[in-house]
Amino acid sequence: MVERLQNYIDGRWQDSTAAEWLDVENPATQEVLAQVPLSAAGDVEQAAQAAAVAFQSWRRVPPNDRVQYLFHLKRLLDENLEDLAQTITLECGKTLGESRGELRRAIENVEVACGIPMLMQGDVLEDVARGIDEMMIRQPLGVAAAIAPFNFPGMIPFWFFPYAIACGNTYLLKPSEKVPLTMYKVMRLIEQTGIPAGVVNLVNGGKEAVDAILEHPAIRAISFVGSSPVAKYVYQQAAAHGKRVQCQGGAKNPIIILPDADVEMTTKITLDSAFGCAGQRCLAASLMVTVGQAKQPFTEAIADGAKSRVVGSGLESGVQMGPVINHASRERIEGLVDQGLEEGANVLVDGRQPNISGYEQGSFVRPTLLQDVRPDSRIAQTEIFGPVLGMLHVETIEEAIALVNSGHWGNMACLFTSSGAAARKFRYDAEAGNIGINIGVAAPMAFFPFSGWKESFFGDLHGQGRHAVEFFTQTKVVVERWFQDWTRQF
Ligand code: NAD
Repeated sequence: MVERLQNYIDGRWQDSTAAEWLDVENPATQEVLAQVPLSAAGDVEQAAQAAAVAFQSWRRVPPNDRVQYLFHLKRLLDENLEDLAQTITLECGKTLGESRGELRRAIENVEVACGIPMLMQGDVLEDVARGIDEMMIRQPLGVAAAIAPFNFPGMIPFWFFPYAIACGNTYLLKPSEKVPLTMYKVMRLIEQTGIPAGVVNLVNGGKEAVDAILEHPAIRAISFVGSSPVAKYVYQQAAAHGKRVQCQGGAKNPIIILPDADVEMTTKITLDSAFGCAGQRCLAASLMVTVGQAKQPFTEAIADGAKSRVVGSGLESGVQMGPVINHASRERIEGLVDQGLEEGANVLVDGRQPNISGYEQGSFVRPTLLQDVRPDSRIAQTEIFGPVLGMLHVETIEEAIALVNSGHWGNMACLFTSSGAAARKFRYDAEAGNIGINIGVAAPMAFFPFSGWKESFFGDLHGQGRHAVEFFTQTKVVVERWFQDWTRQF
């Protein structure tokens, strides 16, 4: 019997009232790891109520006491990093090195949120008029919720909940139903910190749970990360229900390579960006644009690197790329490659239908390179979310920047060059929220906002750092005057 996952509500593990359960599968083998409930609206209702009640006392806990639970959680995450990394690799497929890396980024967010006693401070100005002082205070909102995607089960919830609870909010977390095991384990660690019941709640589920979160009157703020169509839906529905909302969506990230870029480093970094996590990163390079003389040397080097990438189970040492999340995703990716070929692209390295010895049942796609991709083709504009790199060529940096800016996505754009002037022009003109200069995955550290633009982000304040503190607090301005009566006896 495989384990049936529970929800964690009001400090207790409890069975979901779900009518439907899904198998959680290891994408490298299709082994069933557990069953996850598609929780019903009633489960969300219970969690939201528990969080609303807990908020009344949690907001009164001094910030420096609230962060003690986060210091404790950081220690537990460090101690359990290896076990959590194994779990991420088992349910998500990425290599163990990638799983460890994402956990370190998660822990970084806990560390930053531990600075809340300073980050949450307001502003005061004396004598805005004679004898009148004015202050701006930050107060928590109430109950906040996160809806997470499958590709970073151990990191993405941490862009939000440590800041939310440190600011005095209470929380409801809904992981992706494809990868619920990692947060299941993290929730057990949160429980070990002794944090009061109802402050953090976990509800497993899919669309029904999301819709219940969107509609619940006690939930004041929602953070979403996932595909752009769902991001737009969540953004609209949350706004229609009067909630504060931030939604990070999909991407199609171009890497521009100038002829003066370092061949060895640029090739290594581009391969890591395109094929790391099997291309299932919202900051994966998915379009490589060579400029002028860069075409021939970089095309050859990238093709060699793509062919020699070691693909297999993420648990095995030496493996550089694991499977994609499931068979449906593999079929979708291969279908998009077929479509690219119909649109006139040529396949330089073909990773479709691979045979991975010992993992014949796995959802594998090998690194794939498509050459001569037209900028206006669907393949150039559709997020593939797999190990497929489209290759384009232009003659000038101006054309390259125009190509970047013509896309409807805006998560990341990168430039490889040894020219400071070219780098400055790119940084200044490229329309994307995360820019890499000789960097292939321009993921902001926890103390900077994760700044998607255009169709890659719906909202105003982003995840992480100061933006998170602003998102999870509401400002109150107090204008204060005291009449002086020094003759009064106390
Ligand atoms: P997804 O949109 O399918 O699912 C995300 C979440 O939404 C899940 O929790 C899921 O249960 C829920 N959901 C799915 N369909 C829904 C619906 N119709 N109504 C309500 N809720 C629904 O995304 P995914 O496949 O899990 O994740 C991959 C996507 O996430 C990619 O597009 C990737 O680019 C994006 N992503 C973006 C960022 C970023 O920072 N911009 C980071 C990671 C992933």
